[in-house]
Amino acid sequence: MSPPAEPRALEALARDLLGPLLDLDVPSRTGWTLVGWDAEAGVSLTLGKGDRLLLVEIEPRDDARACLARTERFNVCARRAFRGDEPLDDEERRVVGQIARLLRARADLLPVVERPPTTHRTEVREVTVDRVLVPEGAGHYYVNPYTGCMIGCAFCYVAHRADLSRALEARPALPWGRYVDVKINAADVLRREVARRPPGIVRLSPIVTDPYQPLERRYRITRQCLEVLAGAGFTPGVLTRAARVVDDLPLLARIPGAAVGLSIPTDDDRVRRMFEPGADPIEERLDALERCHRAGVLTFGVVQPMLPMDPDRLVAAMAPFVRCVRIDRMHEMARARPLYAQAGRLDAAEDAYFERTAARLVAGFAARGVQVDALDDLGALVSGARPGVARSPVS
Ligand code: SF4
Repeated sequence: MSPPAEPRALEALARDLLGPLLDLDVPSRTGWTLVGWDAEAGVSLTLGKGDRLLLVEIEPRDDARACLARTERFNVCARRAFRGDEPLDDEERRVVGQIARLLRARADLLPVVERPPTTHRTEVREVTVDRVLVPEGAGHYYVNPYTGCMIGCAFCYVAHRADLSRALEARPALPWGRYVDVKINAADVLRREVARRPPGIVRLSPIVTDPYQPLERRYRITRQCLEVLAGAGFTPGVLTRAARVVDDLPLLARIPGAAVGLSIPTDDDRVRRMFEPGADPIEERLDALERCHRAGVLTFGVVQPMLPMDPDRLVAAMAPFVRCVRIDRMHEMARARPLYAQAGRLDAAEDAYFERTAARLVAGFAARGVQVDALDDLGALVSGARPGVARSPVS
């Protein structure tokens, strides 16, 4: 039997650290407003001014990683939400500098904690939370039904940031993939939140979890959240590496505008077994994509990170079943390089490989009428507009 669910302390700790920043629901003297915040993959803030959205991410201090500012304990990174490639202007850099100063001034308010020793078990903890729906811009939200992911890809980009959140709560340091917090009251909390917010698009995507990791069959937290969203007129956009998303296909097919994306980073299941052994076989993910498409659900594909592959075969397998795709390189190369070495494919870890493969994928998808663009913009996908060009208002 599971131990009783415990209230999670993480939000209270983040409030200690960020203090006045979390009261910024009216414009500050500089005109910036707090749009949303989260503390599950490190601490992140979305700030808005006019039509600009600035995403500030607070990570554990690591001098080897690029960032905009550093404090004794943290790296402070920032980018424009939905426009990650655009450089920050001077004003935005000043805002990030002010946040770094605030963190330096308040760091002593965090308790000094000693983390329990690491064990070798996978830790599944049932928790109660007091917030689930995270706003990230007008009409856009996200929800994480769980924190942590048992699929456990070694290259997962949230791994080291999520450990900062565990450190704040004095949880044992476990490798990414070896712990999951199950938010057992997520649907109840979400029901109250959607009653107070205007309907919009809600991402259930791998921000700190995969919404259809194996535990979903036991707990059905994602399904319960989808039911709440559907009942309140919100539009979910799901992204997963798991074929068990089809468990919810009847529900998803009933929700107007619901979108489902499958991450499929290679056409070759031998590569999948080497790089993401905890994820479902490629054939099963392609089959799930086809079933969602045939059920009338909006479908998209994500080829990220581009693993060793035959790009033409991957395009041929995915293109008939997706409206658009997002393509990206491997970013967590320090953690992923041993996988490339074991696979004997260090050539596929080079910039030239990513450039060459992306060019083949873009040309192949475009030739088959599949849009290739920034799928962070789920609003455009749901509305049928060209993604990445204009964020459509949600009504
Ligand atoms: S499935 Fe997604 S969220 Fe889970 S470990 Fe892999 S990349 Fe991370």
